[in-house]
Formats: sequence, C-alpha cells, structure tokens
Amino acid sequence: MAGRNWFSNFHPFTKPLIYQGFVFTTPEHFYQAMKAPKIDLATRRKIARVSTPAEAKKLGRKITLRSDWEQIKVEVMFFAQRYRFSDPKWRRKLLETRGEIVEWNTWHDRTWGRCTCPMCKGEGKNLLGKILMKLRDEMLLKKETVWRNTIQPLR
Ligand SMILES: [Zn+2]
Repeated sequence: MAGRNWFSNFHPFTKPLIYQGFVFTTPEHFYQAMKAPKIDLATRRKIARVSTPAEAKKLGRKITLRSDWEQIKVEVMFFAQRYRFSDPKWRRKLLETRGEIVEWNTWHDRTWGRCTCPMCKGEGKNLLGKILMKLRDEMLLKKETVWRNTIQPLR
C-alpha cells in the first residue's frame, strides 16, 4: 500500500519538466514559478533554479502573482500532475490506488488537501486529490499511447 502523500509535490519528477526553456525538477517548482506573470521570465527562472521545493514554495509567497492566478492555478497543477503521471513508474503507482485519494496534511491546506489538525477537523476541498482521481479515470479509459498524447501546453 502506498503511504500517505506518496504523491507529494516535493517528490522529484522522474525526468525534469522543461517549460519555456527552464528545467523544473519537482511539481512544486513548476507550480510556484507559474505564479509569476507569463512575461516575468526572470522570476520564473529564479524559482526553477532554487535547489529545493521548500525554497520554491517560500519564494512563491513573495512574488507578485499573475492577475489570473486564481482562475488558472488548478489548470497549472493539472498540467504538472499530468506530466508526472505520464511516466510509467508514477502511472503504475496511481493505478494501484483504489477509492478516494486525499491529500491529508497538518499545515492547514484546505484548498489542495484536507487538514487533520483539531481546528480544521479534516476539512478541505482536496483539489489535488481530485486531480489525481481524474487522472486515474483518464488512465483507466485510455490506452497508454493515447494518454501520452493528451499532454497539452498551458495557454
Ligand atoms: Zn489545520
């Protein structure tokens, strides 16, 4: 049985994601970098280059967000997860899961997961879990070759 949060965004991609010529080693790096406006390549590059996903997360809190970030953030996360799970090893891991996937956390993230602290009481939208379940559904419906071709660039 895969442990809790085996799908953490802090785990490196099997192969780095190349986007706009930058090399992203984890989904967290990519997600945080995309918070910067499309034309702010300097910030995106800076985030892509920090050595740990924790640093990327920290930097992402300090930058000026692109104006449509709230509308686009789920799509950005979906893009990163789709890339990760196009790798056969990750794909297999996701296909081994059954039932509901929940990003349980203790740091009050009630957007991407559900927080288990006494204050949040397990509440949360679990958007990351929902993305993973949607990807799993796609995988079950499509053959692997078709699946690989479904990766689309972000707008
Ligand atoms: Zn909490």
